[in-house]
Amino acid sequence: MNDDLKALIRTIPDFPKPGIQFRDITTLLLDPAGYATTIDRMVRATIGKVDLVAGIEARGFLFAAALAVPLNAGVLLIRKDGKLPGATIAEDYALEYGQDRIAMHEDALVPGQRVLLVDDLIATGGTARAAIRLLRKAGATVDQVQFVVDLPDLGGADALRAGGVRVDSLIR
Ligand code: IMP
Repeated sequence: MNDDLKALIRTIPDFPKPGIQFRDITTLLLDPAGYATTIDRMVRATIGKVDLVAGIEARGFLFAAALAVPLNAGVLLIRKDGKLPGATIAEDYALEYGQDRIAMHEDALVPGQRVLLVDDLIATGGTARAAIRLLRKAGATVDQVQFVVDLPDLGGADALRAGGVRVDSLIR
């Protein structure tokens, strides 16, 4: 079903370090029909009324922004800590080696608003889980998350589902 989109993703071996097979979505973005189909399928996969689409820096922005327009929703930016100009709240998450921190403006949403979280890819799910914690800390309702690519062997999407969140992805 999604083989057409899968063909637009390329794999770069040994990036960003030896042994990693990096799934590169820049080739999908370069294809007008592929990008449009991606956004159209994400719109169709969206359940119910969404107030805001949250994208995770940086590639998540490309899908969150395009999705927000047809959904008649706003765009909420989740960025690496230290990049947003206003007062922020932040959330730490573990990396393979070390830690990272993502942040959002503390006044970006009104408690109770329904937020659809979007990123280009889910691997272990650590980034998405931190983003959900952050959004919920701000008072958002988060019950659906969408990714363009899921790497199912890493179990991230299943872990989110086990936590009661609906997870949709276009390419596995
Ligand atoms: P996770 O936290 O392990 O699920 O990693 C997902 C995050 O890392 C997302 O923000 C992705 O953009 C990024 N990422 C990890 N692996 C890849 C990849 O192979 N291609 C593109 N992005 C990746």
